Order: sequence, then structure tokens, then C-alpha cells
Amino acid sequence: MRANHSTTNNIASFARLLESPPALHDLTDGCSLTLQYALTTAWGVAANYLVHSARIDTPPETVRSLFQAFTRHINCQECLRKRDQRIEQVIEQWNEIFSPRVNGS
Ligand SMILES: [Zn+2]
Repeated sequence: MRANHSTTNNIASFARLLESPPALHDLTDGCSLTLQYALTTAWGVAANYLVHSARIDTPPETVRSLFQAFTRHINCQECLRKRDQRIEQVIEQWNEIFSPRVNGS
């Protein structure tokens, strides 16, 4: 069935989308490269979890709260800003990938 095939493709697209971690920020007194990699690692764990649990009807709020939950040990405001930027990008593209075909096809 066409729907199944396209769902598989959508999940694959989503997996590729999630693979890119948040951007690194300029080094500050409070945040070293090592700390920034902690965010990258946490992002990877969350992404891996999402890829294996996400469904076509997973709401964007779930994606957002999951990434926030997996990265809640991050204290650096700059890191969190980069994380939030990345989450918004992911959700935007998630909505494109999974937008319901309201007009039929
Ligand atoms: Zn930082």
C-alpha cells in the first residue's frame, strides 16, 4: 500500500533530519567544547530514541519535550539557545514531512 511505503520514507527522512545536532557556539568562560559535546551527545541519544518511537502522528510537542527532557542537565544558556533553535528547525521540517494531505490526492 502506498501509505506504508511513504511512511517508511518519511521516517527515514526524519532520521536524517534528526542526525544533525545543534550548532556549537563560541567558547565562553562558562562553557567549554567538552560541555558543548555533552549537548551533542544528549541530542544523539534523544534522536535515536525518537527515530525508534516516532509515528506519523507524533505531535511536534512530543518531539520538543523529548529533546528538552534528554538535555535538561545542560546548564549553559548558549547551548540551550542553540538546542531550541535546532528543535524549532526539526519541528518545522517534521511538519513538512508529515503534513496531512487535507485535500486528498
Ligand atoms: Zn554552551
